[in-house]
Amino acid sequence: MEWLTSMNTALENLKPRLLWKHFEAISAIPRASQHEAAALNYVLAEAARLGFESVVDKAGNVVIRKPARPGREGAVMAALQGHLDMVCEKNEGTAHDFSRDPIRLVRDGDWLKAAGTTLGADNGVGVAAALAVMESTDIAHGPLEFVFTIDEESGLTGASDFPNGLLKSKYFLNLDGEEEDTLCIGCAGAVNTVARRKIERRAAGAGDAWRLRVSGLMGGHSGIDINKGRGNALRILGRILQLLREHVNPGIASLEGGSKRNAIPREASATIVIDGSRVQE
Ligand SMILES: [Zn+2]
Repeated sequence: MEWLTSMNTALENLKPRLLWKHFEAISAIPRASQHEAAALNYVLAEAARLGFESVVDKAGNVVIRKPARPGREGAVMAALQGHLDMVCEKNEGTAHDFSRDPIRLVRDGDWLKAAGTTLGADNGVGVAAALAVMESTDIAHGPLEFVFTIDEESGLTGASDFPNGLLKSKYFLNLDGEEEDTLCIGCAGAVNTVARRKIERRAAGAGDAWRLRVSGLMGGHSGIDINKGRGNALRILGRILQLLREHVNPGIASLEGGSKRNAIPREASATIVIDGSRVQE
């Protein structure tokens, strides 16, 4: 087992010890979105080994409860949450089967990396941190719930199917942050919406065809850049079309824009047909 040797070297002397122990263990478990069973079994086995109760919901999320440490029994209950799945990407030429192979961990100075693949620190570090607190005997904490959700990366279905009433905690700490040493107080959500509308096509009448094009925008991630006031090409184009509709009522021959659900659209275009006598207007 050659990778085991290299893994141990990669994580040698890293602290906190429990966190890296669990990170090493889950890095060895394939856990693509919607294939989290083995990772789920790992956290369940840990709960059983430590003698804590666990509940698996219908979606496949798990909640584990750990009593307060002595002296902290009166504290309010808090939940620590992380997601079990990871984004599975590899470099061209890397032989890696994400359904079977462990992530190969490599130490590069102060960085821990993976050999030719994604590392899965999102959200492996969050899961490992939660498991470290779960196993700890030297942290003065109140009663805790540990929540491990599935399928975050491909649509947050674990979180959205999470049943009402299962959690007893007053505070909920999500361990899937973006920035180090930063605590974000707030609430985030994501939803995919598919809208369908029947359209009626007809032959274009006499008129001039024009191509409207919105481009040159910055774009960005719809999660972390959405608050920056950046232009959304689809919305800008939509506003223009709406305005035109109110004035010269063009025919729309084509309409396209955007590329990904989680990217702010940078470009959009439409081909419209306007009555020749109204072009000036
Ligand atoms: Zn994540």
